[in-house]
Amino acid sequence: MATASKVSIVNVGYRSTNFWVVSSGASRLLLDLGWPGTLATLRANLDRMDVPIRDIRHGLATHFHLDHAGLAQELKALGMRLLVPDLQRPFIPRIMDHVKPADHFTPITLHDNTEFPIGQSREILAGIGIAGDIVHTPGHSDDSVSLLLDDGSVFTGDLTHPMFVTDETAEVVTASWQRLTDMGATTVYPGHGPIRRL
Ligand SMILES: [Zn+2]
Repeated sequence: MATASKVSIVNVGYRSTNFWVVSSGASRLLLDLGWPGTLATLRANLDRMDVPIRDIRHGLATHFHLDHAGLAQELKALGMRLLVPDLQRPFIPRIMDHVKPADHFTPITLHDNTEFPIGQSREILAGIGIAGDIVHTPGHSDDSVSLLLDDGSVFTGDLTHPMFVTDETAEVVTASWQRLTDMGATTVYPGHGPIRRL
């Protein structure tokens, strides 16, 4: 069995949203996929971090809102495989409910993604050299997932900070954070704002 290489994490975000490149050996996974209509900005930020955009061979959206999956289809056209845990699939077309023509959003096709039961995420990630799990963490949205690496790093997208939960989502948000800490999460890489320790 191949030993997983040490993972490195860089932020290529812009417009108050973090986009993370998780690298392991030659493998590069982009976590959250840009704002629509901003491929040039993402490409420039990747270049600044010495990551050629064509090296991004895999991508995962924590959830299908415009600021987290806005460039998914353009990135696919450049060679990225979109990883889709099965529970996210029905939410992909619904992103169109929020799109305005001025967004310059390219609709995400469904037939050409790497789709898998979320319970098999560990094997899928191992296949690209990353030791970790994709965990269902609803609260902000029902399609929200987190990427939890074996070193305790966790990418939580818009999962509400425990201090800002509202009454109607408190239970589900708290359960999602509990699930992550039970599984060993220690360092949060959120969709917005700074990295923090749990
Ligand atoms: Zn969102």
